[in-house]
Amino acid sequence: MSDFAARVLDWFDEHGRKDLPWQHDVTPYCVWVSEIMLQQTQVQTVIPYFERFLRSFPDVATLAAAEQDEVLSHWSGLGYYARARNLHKAAQTICSEHAGEFPDDFDAVVALPGIGRSTAGAILSLALGKRQPILDGNVKRVLARHEAVEGWPGANKVAAVLWESASRNTPQRRVAEYTQAMMDLGATLCTRSKPRCLECPVGSDCEALRLNRVAEFPGRKAKKSKPLRSTTMILASHGNEVYLERRPEAGIWGGLWSLPELGERSLDEWCDIELGSLALESRSWEVLRHSFSHYDLDIRPIVVRVDSHASKVADAGSKTWYKLDAAPPGGLAAPVKRLISQLKTNQLSLIK
Ligand code: SF4
Repeated sequence: MSDFAARVLDWFDEHGRKDLPWQHDVTPYCVWVSEIMLQQTQVQTVIPYFERFLRSFPDVATLAAAEQDEVLSHWSGLGYYARARNLHKAAQTICSEHAGEFPDDFDAVVALPGIGRSTAGAILSLALGKRQPILDGNVKRVLARHEAVEGWPGANKVAAVLWESASRNTPQRRVAEYTQAMMDLGATLCTRSKPRCLECPVGSDCEALRLNRVAEFPGRKAKKSKPLRSTTMILASHGNEVYLERRPEAGIWGGLWSLPELGERSLDEWCDIELGSLALESRSWEVLRHSFSHYDLDIRPIVVRVDSHASKVADAGSKTWYKLDAAPPGGLAAPVKRLISQLKTNQLSLIK
């Protein structure tokens, strides 16, 4: 075992996290779900979502058999919904191609939807003790600093150097603990903005520390300003119901229930064509800005009271009248949730 790994493991024995919900009864399934949730989200936020998800979908077979709406509603608020759709699809693949058993072979794991090289390594090392390196955001930061690897880790050449380092440092024994230790080291000591180098088990030979350049690693991507897009969303209400549409699978908020967008039409045309109804009264709300990773979206909400329910709407599985006091029909995108709750608050004055 390298001296680096030995020091990291000694530190883990004393300071590592050993009581997270997915560490209690370790199975590839639990580790997989937790790793997918943790990809873009902090541990403390993930814990209640993870516990609720596991209560509803305790194993691969239950998840595979669930409706996508049910899975997405368990993800509501976590963001990056492609993660949930891929988790669901991968569970179905495991049932159809691996007889319901989570595969233990790296190539088979990495072939599943939504599982990249690092996540596959994490599942196999944490759940099965296989010697597979990982390179998530935390580990990238520790290694880039410890070896003063220049450049942005998203660039192929830089990633190759970091993968080589991750692989070289991963020990033959105690792989699961080492993997957890590296993630913990990055999350608790070698943090992005306030690293605690004095307490670090690998500080004595950390190159970035020696050069007094810790804040410069890992290198950042050259910044581009985000484009701004805009859309008009319609809160069409009738009585205490609001009209919702399910988003197509591809694109933003895929598979989630959302408010319809006006597009190029006038509001009267939209009500007539989409709902077969008349717009009785309408009102614009303040613009709501929502940030995606690649662009910002300005949402201009218009509340419109319509004179009737359309027969057109009743038949389709992707359109519904949602009763404001009932449970939503499935997952709702965060800004849509916000607008609907605003409508609920205002409904007494608006829908009468
Ligand atoms: S010494 Fe500081 S910068 Fe280097 S690995 Fe440890 S915490 Fe990170």
